Amino acid sequence: MSTSSLNTDLSQTPNNQTFSVTPGEPPEDDAVAFENPHYDELGIARLAGWKDRSIMLLAIVGPFLGLLVALGYCWTTGWFSWPFLVLLVGAWVVSGMGVTIGFHRLLTHGSFETYRPIRAFLMFCGALSVEGSPLLWCAVHRRHHALSDHPGDPHSPHLHGEGLWNAIKGFWYGHCGWLLTHAWSSPDLKRYVPDLMQEKLLVAVDRMYYLWVITSLAIPTGIGYLITGTWQGAVMGLLWGGLVRIFLGHHITWSINSVCHIFGGRPYRTTDRSTNNLICALLGFGEGWHNNHHAFPTSARHGLAWWQLDTSWLVILTMKKLGLAWNVKVPSQRALEQRRVQ
Ligand SMILES: [Zn+2]
Ligand SMILES: [Zn+2]
Repeated sequence: MSTSSLNTDLSQTPNNQTFSVTPGEPPEDDAVAFENPHYDELGIARLAGWKDRSIMLLAIVGPFLGLLVALGYCWTTGWFSWPFLVLLVGAWVVSGMGVTIGFHRLLTHGSFETYRPIRAFLMFCGALSVEGSPLLWCAVHRRHHALSDHPGDPHSPHLHGEGLWNAIKGFWYGHCGWLLTHAWSSPDLKRYVPDLMQEKLLVAVDRMYYLWVITSLAIPTGIGYLITGTWQGAVMGLLWGGLVRIFLGHHITWSINSVCHIFGGRPYRTTDRSTNNLICALLGFGEGWHNNHHAFPTSARHGLAWWQLDTSWLVILTMKKLGLAWNVKVPSQRALEQRRVQ
């Protein structure tokens, strides 16, 4: 049950497979990006087929429409009760931490170990966020680390060139435009998540992804009905605990990809333009300490200074103290000092 200090290799995955990034140097022109017909000559992903694009457009716009209906409903009826706020926050925390602790720190980066059923449970919670099939999410994110802010990065906001208009286009692409491209719909699972594909339980949870999406909407709808005993309550549950909560979770996660590669401080040297952003960190359960994370990708702790609140880390630390997490990786003091911008 020890806390391991981690190496500073930007590109290492839990199974020690390496990608084309060396610390301190930009990645080589990645052959995958340029020989891949899904990416253009700038390394920007091409638009996906209409079917994939339609599904993703629904995933982007649907929760937003849910937000408008929920607000309109409150506006006209003047009715919103505390249980629905609790439902909204509770569902956001469970699904959000499923992504930050489960998808991201545990599965993508292997920053700690836990029991197999807990891995699957965290993966299930993450799937409730409706941010995509878990293995797909992990594959895309490992590619992001391998090519971060260089051609072939699935969602860099910095590939569109100079000038205000290109900056706006880059922001849109980095935030959610990339979801309509092959960066999302044609992930290379075999290349990026071969280790995870060997875990039968994880693959089983992954294959049932659309069932979890339905579950993600059905649970708050059912709770809304149980709270009020009315169909109006069920609709409120669907709206606030389902669609509005998914909308919030989506935009907070997407802001890590867009905002946290543009706005904020860069205390550590990295080969990308990742930043630490306080607001994203508070809303994103610690994920907004994104420059820290790119400097030390396998660290279970993203808020590396005492004042950098990282609620996901607090949960992992609690799990460790309870004996539910081990081999928890954090950078050594020496590694922090070596990486710090002088
Ligand atoms: Zn990043
Ligand atoms: Zn990461």
